[in-house]
Amino acid sequence: MLAIIVGPIVAILIIGLILYLRAQGAKKGTSPASGKRSKLLIHSINDDRCTGCDACVLVCPTDVLELRNNKSRVVRFNDCIQCEQCAHVCPTNALVMHYEGTEPPPVLVPDLDEYYQSKTVPGLYLVGEAAGKPLVKNAVNLGRAAVEHALRNGLRPGALRAGSPMGVTSVDVVIVGSGPAGLSAAMACLQRGLSYVVLEKDSFVASTIARYPKGKKVMAEPYDVRCVGLLPVWDATKDDTIREWNRILEQVDLDIRLRQVVEDIKYEGGVFTVKTDKATYRGQKVLLCIGTRGKPRRLGVPGEDKPHVQPLLDDPDLYRGKTILVVGGGDSAVEAAVALSDPSLRNRVVLSYRGRQFNRVKARNRQELDAAVEQQRVLLLLGSKVVEFKDRATVLLLGDGRQKTIPTDHAFVLIGGDPPIKWLESIGIRYVQVPHSFTRGPTDQLVERLIGRQPDNNRPGQPIPIQIHYEEEESATIMADQSAAMEAVRQAFMQQALSGFKKKKERAGLTIMVPKEKFLLHLPEKMHVEAGAAKVGTMRR
Ligand SMILES: Cc1cc2nc3c(=O)[nH]c(=O)nc-3n(C[C@H](O)[C@H](O)[C@H](O)COP(=O)(O)OP(=O)(O)OC[C@H]3O[C@@H](n4cnc5c(N)ncnc54)[C@H](O)[C@@H]3O)c2cc1C
Ligand code: SF4
Ligand code: SF4
Repeated sequence: MLAIIVGPIVAILIIGLILYLRAQGAKKGTSPASGKRSKLLIHSINDDRCTGCDACVLVCPTDVLELRNNKSRVVRFNDCIQCEQCAHVCPTNALVMHYEGTEPPPVLVPDLDEYYQSKTVPGLYLVGEAAGKPLVKNAVNLGRAAVEHALRNGLRPGALRAGSPMGVTSVDVVIVGSGPAGLSAAMACLQRGLSYVVLEKDSFVASTIARYPKGKKVMAEPYDVRCVGLLPVWDATKDDTIREWNRILEQVDLDIRLRQVVEDIKYEGGVFTVKTDKATYRGQKVLLCIGTRGKPRRLGVPGEDKPHVQPLLDDPDLYRGKTILVVGGGDSAVEAAVALSDPSLRNRVVLSYRGRQFNRVKARNRQELDAAVEQQRVLLLLGSKVVEFKDRATVLLLGDGRQKTIPTDHAFVLIGGDPPIKWLESIGIRYVQVPHSFTRGPTDQLVERLIGRQPDNNRPGQPIPIQIHYEEEESATIMADQSAAMEAVRQAFMQQALSGFKKKKERAGLTIMVPKEKFLLHLPEKMHVEAGAAKVGTMRR
């Protein structure tokens, strides 16, 4: 009897002891079997590339990492179980792991000149995080720098206007992506009177930032770099940042085409042809401001372009009382289905996945999905495929071969994305290996090398510099609060409407009246706009 009770206890104690010794061995880098010290994987973090996105901190099962001053830091290395998940989730390669005593592995970066222009495809710029230079302020600075550099390197405003094939929109600059890099580039085009278009795959602008976790701050890093782009960047919540940017965008009325996924870019005879899933554009220069999240995969079925079918889920709280189809079998699809099926939202959620079982879903997501299915918050259709999206319905082919049409207010196709590197290589951009410690220089200096000293655009609603150029040697800068500056611009347009486009030499300077859509405005040599004033006055040098 005693043996029956004591036996299992002793066995459990022995197993526990072995596991304990193994864990200690792993922690100290010593193999219990050999007694020899085995090599440990250690972390290297490149602060220039760390955005403070928190992904590595959240994924770590043993709380080894923490954010300190918005940078990832290893604070409890003894608890590290060497799973390398932190390195896998890092979107910018800021964090890598390597054996102690060895160099960190090199990273792949696009082969660009100092102004972020591809060395293999001249005229094609990679701007912001896509270039391996993350952070919002850098993106804003680089968007402006790329436009200014393009202007000085062969861009001839309006050169493609004639001879545009039917149904193809021709512009000076095609901007792909409406994050801070793309928006800033568009503002710079507007300011310089260049024709442009911004193509954005999402249904709203600045979607990377808009999707930060609730309440997350946009830290205006790097603090030793000034914001010299035309969008302000300061320490603020993501909501305040997006609100302020939207206010500015409304004022200047940027040409942004939402829900257009750029799928192909070709360069022939000095002209780029950019194909989206909906239209074709031609441009003299292309600015790829696409971040690092990749190009969403498509199902390739009829109706996938309908507005209610989306490749990303924004805020689940925006969907209430709806019938929603989620397609996919990875973590994003499962997380989306679970979030959308929250009882407080009162949605009816269907999750369709072509596989017969989930193979690559995290255990916790799987448990939450199982609970949602059991509580009939999610209808799970394994082995099913979308045949067609109709206006308020979806035709599915079920696992048993039957076709079923289900009502659908919204559909989210979350079947992953192709990494931008693969895609960028396919359009001619070369990638090169650099040491993990590789950094590119300060982005404010890059802009100022091209256009001189600029004010720091580091507060909302503060004066924005509207620098106006007509010919290289003629320029003026208006400093005003944004509404006054815009008002000044409007006034000038009105004058132009009265007087027609003309160039007028005056004693005070050169006044050039130009078409509104060009936003190209040349005022007397130096203008002064009082904050809040609706009148443009002349300030003598
Ligand atoms: C959780 C989180 C927290 C962060 N915190 C900070 C912070 O505090 N401070 C900071 O400075 N930075 C922070 N960052 C980093 C910062 O958000 C990025 O570095 C910055 O947004 C990069 O700007 P971007 O314009 O280069 O790219 P993005 O902002 O990523 O914008 C790219 C845009 O391109 C679009 N796009 C992509 N592919 C295509 C295509 N094929 N066709 C059409 N459109 C396309 C995307 O939909 C997107 O709107 C954080 C990032 C994350 C994820
Ligand atoms: S290797 Fe694993 S345990 Fe170690 S810090 Fe990274 S995620 Fe955490
Ligand atoms: S995942 Fe990478 S970028 Fe994000 S906080 Fe960690 S190290 Fe920094």
